[in-house]
Amino acid sequence: MKKLAILGATGSIGRNTLDIVRNQRNRFQIVALAAGENIPLFAEQIREFKPKLVSVKDEEKARELRDLISSEDVEITYGNKGLVNVAIFPPAELVVVATSGSVGLIPTLQAIEAGKDIALANKETLIMAGELIISSVAKKGVRLLPIDSEHSALFQCLEGRRKEEVRRIILTASGGPFLNLAPAKLSKVTIEEALRHPSWKMGKKVTIDSATLMNKGLEVIEAHFLFGLPEEKIEVVIHPQSIVHSLVEFVDGSIIGELNLPDMRIPIQYALTYPERLPNPFPKLDFKKTIALSFSPPDITKFPALRLSRQALKEGGTMRTVLATADEVAVEYFLTGRITFDKIPLLVEKTMEKHHKKEVSSLETVLEAEQWARKEAKKIAEGLS
Ligand code: MG
Repeated sequence: MKKLAILGATGSIGRNTLDIVRNQRNRFQIVALAAGENIPLFAEQIREFKPKLVSVKDEEKARELRDLISSEDVEITYGNKGLVNVAIFPPAELVVVATSGSVGLIPTLQAIEAGKDIALANKETLIMAGELIISSVAKKGVRLLPIDSEHSALFQCLEGRRKEEVRRIILTASGGPFLNLAPAKLSKVTIEEALRHPSWKMGKKVTIDSATLMNKGLEVIEAHFLFGLPEEKIEVVIHPQSIVHSLVEFVDGSIIGELNLPDMRIPIQYALTYPERLPNPFPKLDFKKTIALSFSPPDITKFPALRLSRQALKEGGTMRTVLATADEVAVEYFLTGRITFDKIPLLVEKTMEKHHKKEVSSLETVLEAEQWARKEAKKIAEGLS
């Protein structure tokens, strides 16, 4: 029985993770859960999975939750401290980090320090503090398993191979809802249109990031840290069908890819059961039907986020935190109708231009850069709106 803790239980990845546990009751036990503000759903999850420790956003939400589950035998905590307590809960062996944004960073580092294996869905953690995460994973000898579908694909293709055998990795991107839209029309797209992803159902932040291609840019950085490859060995290709989740080209020219229907439960399950593979009832690719797959290069002029991400990775240090944080602010401003869609990468670029990069030597450096970027990006956003 593998004992699990989940950070971000009520989000899209959290719900999918619980769905897998529901299918594999004899293999997994939920011992701790953290959620933010969706208290009614969280109460249902607690009644179903019976964790021993849970955490919510703040004291008020904790009170609200207590009223809903008064008969359950569970300890309720809240806030950043509560989130860390869930991450380091002694019985947990594997921590699923499914929070969105920078909030997952400190709990992830603490969970690694506490000797937990990590299944990571939260990109920002690696973008902001990849060097700290990777070195503490090595020091503690724990596993860092990717949940992001592209990185799970790469992880599977790379299994048993040496880094020297890899010529390049190729991250596939759906291209988002505006792949075929004229660039001049990007300033006119609505929030609703941007949230309508053609192949994946995900949280709002990552859906908007997929529409700007910032998501793919962040994934380039994520791949750099997970697989220890330089920026120039990480390519991006547009593949609108979202069937091939990524590819690895080896030095002999052979390319190995991982294919399945776009369903996040498959990469999540592999992270939970690794190194084993288990059957599941999820829909499978049907080769009795014609399946057409296409690949084309991304348009970096139309989607500057790809260029900005590569620039942040090359400059390194705190510039990556500034990229991720300015993007978080920009997406929030777009989703609340305060800036237009085309201004999202512009806001990121302007914030990066103002930043004096530092090396990431400690968590404090990262958190300082995050604070600076949040303030600066908001200031610039006010000028744009
Ligand atoms: Mg992805």
